[in-house]
Amino acid sequence: MFSLITLGISSASPTTNRYPSAHILRICGRLFLIDCGEGTQLLMKRHRLSISKVQGMFISHLHGDHILGIPGFLSSASLAGRTEPLDIYAVAPLEKMIEFFTDFFEEEFPFELRFHPIEAPGILVSDPAFEVVAFPLDHRVETYGFVFYEKKRRAVARKMVYCSDTAPLSCFPQEAMKADILLHEATFASEKAELARTYFHSTAADAARAARLLDAKRLVLTHFSSRYTDLQPLLDEARAIFPETYLASEGAEFSVPLVRLD
Ligand SMILES: [Zn+2]
Ligand SMILES: [Zn+2]
Repeated sequence: MFSLITLGISSASPTTNRYPSAHILRICGRLFLIDCGEGTQLLMKRHRLSISKVQGMFISHLHGDHILGIPGFLSSASLAGRTEPLDIYAVAPLEKMIEFFTDFFEEEFPFELRFHPIEAPGILVSDPAFEVVAFPLDHRVETYGFVFYEKKRRAVARKMVYCSDTAPLSCFPQEAMKADILLHEATFASEKAELARTYFHSTAADAARAARLLDAKRLVLTHFSSRYTDLQPLLDEARAIFPETYLASEGAEFSVPLVRLD
């Protein structure tokens, strides 16, 4: 099983039907949470994804729309009696927010919370089954993209790349090349390219160019501005550059089939 489930697909201002960033990657029988915007635990419940089964949380950067779901997530994990350790990967200052929350409520989690500060680009996780690599994005604060890479002996390895908030990048690490799925922010359509540059965001066309640069197989657009009720124009402009483009939607699942070599 290697699949991406998109949950929170809104940019900083959520709408009544779009929540801020949160996505799940199912890989090697495990769940990884990628960003944890407000309402993540509710979205997970709605789509029957168990909080207790999330093994690791990867946070791209410390803007509210990517982290404000963490207190609720931890609270619910605690109430559910989770005992498995939880690994959180993020830049160092996030630990202070988590500590404030635990001190304030005098919470004792029934599980071990293991915080792993991201100090530089490179490998975050490496085990016999998979690898996670962080690489720098170009946003207003320190921000990382992630490559999730499954290691396979007798099958074609599967790969997902996540580019959260970022101005267009001109180069990517080698590990990100030929991703099966590129999940890329597309806050604006091209008519707002100037606004995108001002706030270090991407347009749908920028995301499509990134997919081309990476020689990705599929592009999934997310992080939509609340100004767009109809997302079709964003899809159209991206497809004109990169035809294999899809819109993320709440609960949509993008699976990558296993291709055996023998
Ligand atoms: Zn954002
Ligand atoms: Zn941001």
